Amino acid sequence: MSILYRSDAPRAAAWARYFAEHAPDLDFRVWPDAGNLDEVEYLIAWQAPAEFIAKLPRLKVFFSSGAGVDHVDFSALPKHVPIVRMVEPGIIDGMVEYVTLSVLALHRDFFDYVEAKARRTWDPLEVPPASSRTIGVMGMGSLGSAVLQRLSSYGFNLRGWNRSLREMDGVESFAGPDQLQSFLEGCDVLICLLPLTPATKGILNRELFSLLPAGAALVNVGRGPHLVDEDLLEALDSGRLSRAILDVTEPEPLPAEHPFWVHPRVFLTPHVASMTQPESAAPILLGNLRRHQRGEPLSNVIDRSRGY
Ligand code: NAP
Repeated sequence: MSILYRSDAPRAAAWARYFAEHAPDLDFRVWPDAGNLDEVEYLIAWQAPAEFIAKLPRLKVFFSSGAGVDHVDFSALPKHVPIVRMVEPGIIDGMVEYVTLSVLALHRDFFDYVEAKARRTWDPLEVPPASSRTIGVMGMGSLGSAVLQRLSSYGFNLRGWNRSLREMDGVESFAGPDQLQSFLEGCDVLICLLPLTPATKGILNRELFSLLPAGAALVNVGRGPHLVDEDLLEALDSGRLSRAILDVTEPEPLPAEHPFWVHPRVFLTPHVASMTQPESAAPILLGNLRRHQRGEPLSNVIDRSRGY
């Protein structure tokens, strides 16, 4: 029984150690030492290039090594091979930290104080209570719901928007395109935690920004193509939006000449909001693999037709 890891090289050793200790019966291989590819039944990888998948005739399951599967070429994977996304506490904790940090930095005007310091200006701003702000999260999945849960401890008003209606204590829930406008109308900070699909590509656009309260801020931790860059720049320059915190861009890395690098009200990080942590992800992936071996249903299999 062979499993091949073909992903982030620096973290491969931690994956291999875990499998050696907890699943010695499995032949865990790390790319490029893949041995005979005919024997590989399970693949842990970020991308699935068609020419590589074609060399794995016995592949049974594709495990995405990261959250999201928009990078995966579904057509390269035979229909009988389930595509499993990564859901693990390390990714969730990282995302909760990043979004909480972003919301609190915006709420407490930290970016204004960075600018004030550069001007050597002692300029105290009002300190409004958290209860005077409304935070909206697009996508109430494993990440969005954990973010909402954590933000609730600060006393913000919370809203969530999802494809299907998802009730959460202390969160005003909205669903589907029909309720998007009502959702947006109250959001002082909008957080995008949607998967990238044909339905969500370009969703952060001029029309959406026009429905937010004037001066709202955007945090995009979904994917770069959710955002229409020119529309964001226009919204920031017209004052419709106050700031944007972007962890994801299109393309990545962002080219040196892109206006986001120098825009004073865009804060950029290089797609680091959260990462798969081998220590917490390996036990979950192994548990899922064992279920498959026992003939039980796998968890976190994506729906190819929905794209997530
Ligand atoms: P998830 O559990 O699959 O949740 C996705 C949520 O989005 C679901 O609740 C889904 O609604 C909702 N949704 C999907 N399409 C929608 C639409 N058209 N309109 C409204 N709601 C829609 O995914 P997740 O684990 O929370 O991850 C979300 C995304 O975060 C990933 O796909 C990835 O792009 C991004 N991410 C970024 C980083 C980073 O470092 N920046 C790290 C990890 C993940 P239903 O409940 O109705 O299905």
